[in-house]
Amino acid sequence: MATQKSTPKIKALVAGNWKMNGTGKQLAELRKLMTAVGRRKPKADIMICPPATLLSRMAALKPKGVALGGQDCHANIAGAHTGDISAEMLKDAGARAVIVGHSERRADHDESDKAVRAKVEAAHRAGLTAIMCVGESLKQRKAGETLKIVQAQLRGSLPIDCSAKNTVIAYEPVWAIGSGLTPTVAQVEEVHNALRKALLRRFGDEGAKMRILYGGSVKPTNADELMAVPNVNGALVGGASLTAKDLYGILKAYC
Ligand code: PEP
Repeated sequence: MATQKSTPKIKALVAGNWKMNGTGKQLAELRKLMTAVGRRKPKADIMICPPATLLSRMAALKPKGVALGGQDCHANIAGAHTGDISAEMLKDAGARAVIVGHSERRADHDESDKAVRAKVEAAHRAGLTAIMCVGESLKQRKAGETLKIVQAQLRGSLPIDCSAKNTVIAYEPVWAIGSGLTPTVAQVEEVHNALRKALLRRFGDEGAKMRILYGGSVKPTNADELMAVPNVNGALVGGASLTAKDLYGILKAYC
């Protein structure tokens, strides 16, 4: 059994980001996950963020013990924004949360901290929890700029009225996403401690309770070690969240 050493007051969250993967066939993985969780419930909240096309189909399965989330939202409630989805629409489809500011969105869609902040505000307006991502590139890490970068992203992307209930932070080093590479435990601890201090400075008591997830090549084989780092309050998982076997393998860090 794994020892979970992170702050005991904060219940961990393990959220799966399916990205642009999954058609109806993939619903079988949610069913398998529900079965595994039903047999042995981890001491962590569990969430799947499927593509928007699967959200209401997943919600229709009434996934006991597994919450649902969106992967992005528009800042506005409604309007002429072809292809976009509002936070209210995600909520209506069954989401409880939405990922915002993922590095793939920041890179592929040129999303600035200001744009991400508007999305966090939209999530809060709709009653969703915003899972707001920060993370440095390899070039920035090599230049010794990691803490400066993630602290600036945190400052620029969060409005002042965030609470532990409506906001989750995900630290995702860009170079670790989908690469199989992970920072060392000491590097993860350094960044999570700096983020915790920044949250405390900005949000006081709420900042002490906010979850800070680690994301970037989390797998069943490294979850125990990463989830035991102080101030790591769960994981945001990409590739390994696509099968119930791997995602439950990660959740075992909380069994
Ligand atoms: C992600 O993109 O949020 C992520 C963590 O991906 P992966 O787990 O595949 O590195």
